[in-house]
Amino acid sequence: MSGGITLDNLTVAYDRHPAVHHVSGTLKEGSLTAIAGPNGAGKSTLIKTIMGELRPAEGSVTHNFSRKDFGYLPQAADINRRFPISVMDTVLLGAWKMSGAFGRIGRQMQAKAEEALATVGLEGFGARPISALSAGQFQRVLFARLLLQDARVILLDEPFTAIDARTTSDLIRIITGWHGEGRTVVAVLHDFDQVRAYFPQTLLIARELIGWGRTEDTLSAANLMKARAMAEKWDEKAGVCMPDARPAA
Ligand code: ADP
Ligand code: MG
Repeated sequence: MSGGITLDNLTVAYDRHPAVHHVSGTLKEGSLTAIAGPNGAGKSTLIKTIMGELRPAEGSVTHNFSRKDFGYLPQAADINRRFPISVMDTVLLGAWKMSGAFGRIGRQMQAKAEEALATVGLEGFGARPISALSAGQFQRVLFARLLLQDARVILLDEPFTAIDARTTSDLIRIITGWHGEGRTVVAVLHDFDQVRAYFPQTLLIARELIGWGRTEDTLSAANLMKARAMAEKWDEKAGVCMPDARPAA
């Protein structure tokens, strides 16, 4: 098998209700892919299944990576920021996988964590409690943690939702850097201008796969209209987070 991640007829369900339906395709090793789609489209479910946190109801996810090769940034809503923990300790959580659950965090690891904090623009922030950070600063901390983790596959679930523009552009630079290093990077995004500017590949999903390939092909006006129509069909009331369809550049 190639170094990629192959989804074959993947279906994932909650209480037998499919959230992701019959998705097939391959994330090539070293690719940089955006996942787009309306609210409730199954984007988070798809990411959790790729990293092995959820089991398919049908079909499969195959790859040659091990669990520790995956770095994951959950959607902000799933993170408890009131937890009384320092910036440094939050970053060092990324080192657990390397030191083993009961391993010791050495001086070298501490130095690497400080370096990661500097890379995300938070030099000297180590001792602060995470509860004292802005949303943008906290997202920088989570990126520092991913830097320390040094994962081969990086899965980001809405990394820029409710994040200021300056932080977003700094963190996009880190993502681009990961891509340049040959890592496989996937991010759930809502801003199509960002996707078009920085993500060569896009997977568009509305529970079923609508398109997966080159961004300019996937985000066609026809595909975006189809995604919206499917979202309206499955829930008339839910807020639909899809900008108006517009022609691909
Ligand atoms: P997205 O990330 O695209 O907004 P999700 O993957 O979070 O979509 O959710 C897809 C569908 O699965 C939604 O209808 C959602 O309500 C449902 N869902 C998500 N997580 C759970 C869960 N833990 N239990 C039951 N249903 C869930
Ligand atoms: Mg989600």
